Amino acid sequence: MIKLKSKLPLVGDTIFSEMSTLAHHLNAINLGQGFPDYQPDSDLLNAVCQAIQQGPNQYAPMTGVPALRQAIRDKVIAHQGHPYDADTDITVTSGATEALTSSILALVHAGDEVILIDPSYDLYAPVVTLAGGTSVRVAMNPPTQDKPRFSLDWNAIAHAVTSRTRLLILNFPHNPSGLTLREEDLDALEQIAARHDFLIMSDEAYEHIVFDGNSHLSPTSRPALAARCILVSSFAKTFHATAWKIGYCCAPGPISQEIRKVHQFAVYSVNTPIQAGIAAYLKQTQAIQGLSAFYQRKRDRLVQGLNASRLRPLHSEGTFFLLVDTSALGEGLEKELAIRLAQEAGVATIPVSAFYEDPASPRANHQLLRLCFAKQDATLDTAIERLVNV
Ligand code: PMP
Ligand code: GLN
Repeated sequence: MIKLKSKLPLVGDTIFSEMSTLAHHLNAINLGQGFPDYQPDSDLLNAVCQAIQQGPNQYAPMTGVPALRQAIRDKVIAHQGHPYDADTDITVTSGATEALTSSILALVHAGDEVILIDPSYDLYAPVVTLAGGTSVRVAMNPPTQDKPRFSLDWNAIAHAVTSRTRLLILNFPHNPSGLTLREEDLDALEQIAARHDFLIMSDEAYEHIVFDGNSHLSPTSRPALAARCILVSSFAKTFHATAWKIGYCCAPGPISQEIRKVHQFAVYSVNTPIQAGIAAYLKQTQAIQGLSAFYQRKRDRLVQGLNASRLRPLHSEGTFFLLVDTSALGEGLEKELAIRLAQEAGVATIPVSAFYEDPASPRANHQLLRLCFAKQDATLDTAIERLVNV
C-alpha cells in the first residue's frame, strides 16, 4: 500500500455537501447549501440552447469568449465603476471557485500571510494552505443583545497586517452574515492599504443582491484599491444557475497575467456555448435590475414567518442568506442543533461555526444558523410551518 501524505489533513467534505446529503437522506427541506429551487430565466435557457445548436462547441479562448469578456467589462463599469480592459484584465473562470483558487495559487507564495475575516467562506483557508501560505484569521464582532448583527473590526484587521501580508480576502455582500460594505469601510481599508503593500481579493459573488434601496459597494470603486484588487464574481447567483460554474476575475493586467498562468493549467478554458449564451443574455440587463427586489420579497417572507417561531432572525443586508439566533432552543454546538433541526423539524440549515477555523470552539459558536431563502415561496412557507413548531 502506498503511503499518502495529505496536503489537507484536516479537510473533510464541506459543510454544504454534508448538510445537502443529510437533507437528501432525511427528505428534509434544504435551506442549507445556497442554491435556488427554481429554473433560470427562459430567455437565458434559450440563449444557451441556441449557442449549443449553432456552435462553436469547441474550446473557447483560454481567457474567455470575447463577447462575454466585453459584457463583463460593461457590467462592471455599470455596477462597480472600474473600467477593466476586456483583453488584458478579465478572465472567465469555472465559477468563482476557480477564480479564487487560481488567484490564490498564483499570487500567494510559501511563507506569505493571507488575512481572512471570520466567519469566512470555506474555500479560502485550504487554498491558502495549498499555496504554502498561512491564514491569519481576524474575527468580525459577533452579534450581541444590544447590537444583533456582525460588524467589521478595522482596528483588528490593521493590527493583523505585517510585512509578510500578501493578500487580504474580502467577501461583501457577505456569506453568511449578509453584511454589505459602506463608504466608511472603504475609507478604513484605503488607510491601511496606503501604509502596506498587499493585494486585496474581493469575492463579490452576491454583488447583485443588496436590499432596502442600497447599492453594492466594491473596493474596486476606489482607484487606489482597484490597482491592487482582484475582483471575483460568478453568474451562479445572479442567474439562478449554480450548476453552470461560470465565473470571472478582473484585475490589472500584470496581476491577471499571473492568474491566467494557473487558470490555463487548472481548466484551460470554460464551457463555450454557456459563455456565448450568457453574453447574449447580458444585453438584456433588466434581469439583473430586478434581482434585489426579487430576493428582498423572499427575505421578508421568511423573516415575517419566522417571527412567529422561537428563532430570532437577524437583519440581512444582502445575499440570499438569513441568520437566525437559536438561543431560545438551548445551549450547544451550532452543528449539533443544525443536525437536530434537520432530523426533527425536517429543515436543513448551515451552522455559522463552519465558517471559522475550529467549528467546535466556543469562539465559533454564537447560536446562529444560516438559512438560504433562494427558494420558491411554497418551499419557504413549508419550512416556516415546520420551524414555527420547534
Ligand atoms: N464565494 C462565495 C462567497 C460563495 O458563496 C460561493 C458559492 N456560492 C462561491 C464563492 C463559489 O461560487 P461558484 O459557485 O460560482 O463557484
Ligand atoms: N456557496 C454556497 C453556499 O454558501 C455553496 C457552494 C458549494 O457547495 N461549494 O451555500
